[in-house]
Amino acid sequence: MPTSSTYGTNTCQVVPDKHESLCTRQAMYGGGDKPRLCPVHQEEYVRRTIAYKDSSEQAISFSEKASWLLNGLDRTSPLLTQDQVYEVFRAAHRCIAALDVEIRERGAHERRFFIQVNEGHELWMRHLVEERRRMGEIARLLRLLRIELLSEQRSQALAGMGPPKSVVQPSISDWDNEDADSP
Ligand SMILES: [Zn+2]
Repeated sequence: MPTSSTYGTNTCQVVPDKHESLCTRQAMYGGGDKPRLCPVHQEEYVRRTIAYKDSSEQAISFSEKASWLLNGLDRTSPLLTQDQVYEVFRAAHRCIAALDVEIRERGAHERRFFIQVNEGHELWMRHLVEERRRMGEIARLLRLLRIELLSEQRSQALAGMGPPKSVVQPSISDWDNEDADSP
């Protein structure tokens, strides 16, 4: 692991991975809170930054969608369907998937371009992990809600109150494919 003293004052400070040697090109970008980088690694820095910001936007957008749908879900309504519950579940699941990508990309970005631990970065990563936990909890509750619905519908069908709604909802099999609340 290189330290600050590994680098000359005006040399590119990208952190080489195990297949690379130290970059000896002159740093022409960065300074202040940005890493000092040569043109090649500056390009990589910009590309990776855009990638994690894109994942971040997706995560925020799915999180907002999931919260909005969840607020509109009347859990006590006899008209509540599995499809309505599934729609919220799917938004939560996609949020978790985007958060996983963002966490991975931000972590790799930080290790690649920064030698010292950055407090702002650490705080944001903790926030992302917490947000992922919260979304996982929402997905878990939605699965439980679905089980409740299924069992209610079965009892109604047995009591002669009509066929179980699940029979006409093939999309529900997706629940089994979207393992949202795994760690
Ligand atoms: Zn470089």
